[in-house]
Amino acid sequence: MKMMDVKLCHFGDRMGVHHLVYKDKYMRIWHEKLIPFLCSKHLTAMWNESWIAFNGIKENKNGWRTHPARKEFEQCPDRLWDRLQLVKKEADKRGFNFIKPFPQRPRRTNNKPKEWQTLNEQINVLVEKRELIESCNCDIENIIKLKT
Ligand SMILES: [Zn+2]
Repeated sequence: MKMMDVKLCHFGDRMGVHHLVYKDKYMRIWHEKLIPFLCSKHLTAMWNESWIAFNGIKENKNGWRTHPARKEFEQCPDRLWDRLQLVKKEADKRGFNFIKPFPQRPRRTNNKPKEWQTLNEQINVLVEKRELIESCNCDIENIIKLKT
């Protein structure tokens, strides 16, 4: 891990609340359009983090409880489950074998995620973050084409 990974940094959510986090605890539930272009490292991290957030919501447990990326799905865990399914499908296509079991589909809600970051904002984060993570092979060329 590079030095910058453990540096304290700021990020804010849409309510204007600022959180202090350690860069190595920087969790992200990526936009569904980004999933096919994520490198194995980012895809695996997304699986683990989204899985923990999903179970946290479902079981009312900790697991990024206060993180805006989890809060986005607090009222609609079914939408997070959809996201997990996309990650799993992409991982299956690449022949990955995730240890965590695929969770049961939760009851459908009519709630929509409270979008914390737009696709463009996430792309900016990913482009910036890629430089901080060793051996990140995200397909940045195609990711940038998703910008609107
Ligand atoms: Zn990557």
